[in-house]
Amino acid sequence: MSKNHVPYKTYLSENELPEAWYNIRADLPNLKPYLHPGTQQPVVPDDMTAIFPMALIEQEMSMERYIPIPEEVRELYRSFRPSPLCRAYNLEKALGTPARIYYKYEGNNPSGSHKLNTAIPQAYYNKQAGIRRLSTETGAGQWGTALSVASQLFGMECTVYMVKVSFQQKPYRKGIMQTYGATVFSSPTNLTNAGRGVLAKDAGSMGSLGIAISEAVEDAATHADTNYALGSVLNHVLLHQTVIGLEAMKQMEKIDEYPDMIIGCCGGGSNFGGIAFPFLREKIVNGRKTEIIAVEPAACPTLTKGVFAYDFGDVAGLTPLVEMYTLGHDFMPPGIHAGGLRYHGDSSLVSRAYHDGYISARAVHQTEVFDAAVLFAKTELILPAPESAHAIRTAIDEALACKESGEAKTILFCLSGHGNMDITAYEDYLSGKLQDIEYGDDMLKEGLKGLPVIG
Ligand SMILES: *Cc1c(COP(=O)(O)O)cnc(C)c1O
Repeated sequence: MSKNHVPYKTYLSENELPEAWYNIRADLPNLKPYLHPGTQQPVVPDDMTAIFPMALIEQEMSMERYIPIPEEVRELYRSFRPSPLCRAYNLEKALGTPARIYYKYEGNNPSGSHKLNTAIPQAYYNKQAGIRRLSTETGAGQWGTALSVASQLFGMECTVYMVKVSFQQKPYRKGIMQTYGATVFSSPTNLTNAGRGVLAKDAGSMGSLGIAISEAVEDAATHADTNYALGSVLNHVLLHQTVIGLEAMKQMEKIDEYPDMIIGCCGGGSNFGGIAFPFLREKIVNGRKTEIIAVEPAACPTLTKGVFAYDFGDVAGLTPLVEMYTLGHDFMPPGIHAGGLRYHGDSSLVSRAYHDGYISARAVHQTEVFDAAVLFAKTELILPAPESAHAIRTAIDEALACKESGEAKTILFCLSGHGNMDITAYEDYLSGKLQDIEYGDDMLKEGLKGLPVIG
């Protein structure tokens, strides 16, 4: 097919839905094991069975290159996948760029983001293991929504510890989760030791993601019929998200394209890893020269300013130690509007790929991010999630660089979700209330003080 006749949207049929996820652990050298937080010895499966089903623990540690997607999961994927690969003709025109811009749109499901891609298999494997209820935390609300949707598909209960400040400020998200049958608590609660401990010290605590994680983990660990589910960061989460990149690869093949550049926003790394890893394999194994860029907020610059070290995944220091880029587990990210990108650390897989030079990273400020979001909304007609708009910003910057140089690069980015629930953020931007927050060296110094000493 001639490149001049690429359609606005390239679809795959339901039968072309990938049959297996891609596990980059098979191709990425130098990965280090998780360490037990107490003994600092490599984590073994038994360490995790109190909160995860064995099938997911096995995926977490697997070195198999391809892991079959269970037929029941593929069947449920079919209600919103394969997702379209879109050519951003209108955005290209507005920019006057010779670049060809493509995006994979993951917002077309009731969770509004890519998170349902992992919520469904996580619920499935837990159901298989005889689990009756899932517990989790949610900050901005996307993950809690995705897990609520997935849990009810398998007839399981879902308990969501929602950070109090979001619980009060985002009543719509709460309402959606409740519609799908979830029980939503404002965290900190007085239902867990972790929550009671916080409230004893500060009765007016507005909560944090770290506190909510501690509550959800405690809930799972203390109830035999309940497991915990995490929406990003872990290997099995990134594994499930590779369905995005595997589809994109097939779609690009159909239109006789291959990306010169792949861009994804990066909080814990799941949508970025999801779109990038299948292409990263081509780079590592077959030497294809694709530039792969992870984009993060300048206010929470984990890859671009953090250090590569073993650190905890949560504030309380209960999770395994993970080798990753981190700003320090007790770093409190400032309240920017892309809530899904406010995490002190990053996936160990993304961190290793970055450390070894296979991918690059960039940090962008929120006002320039919203400039890009509004241009995208006006040209491509989808109101993007503030998180996703980080990828849009960088795609636009790269397309403008092509305009300067006259190069017609093929750019692919992940549009991880829509922003229909983030209107407050847009209103703040439009009324000039958004401020750029500079992450200072003093903040890094402070954050790194809490890094655990290994060995
Ligand atoms: C949660 C979320 C993110 C950030 O999480 P990753 O694991 O880094 O992908 C990005 N975009 C949207 C729309 C989200 O909901």
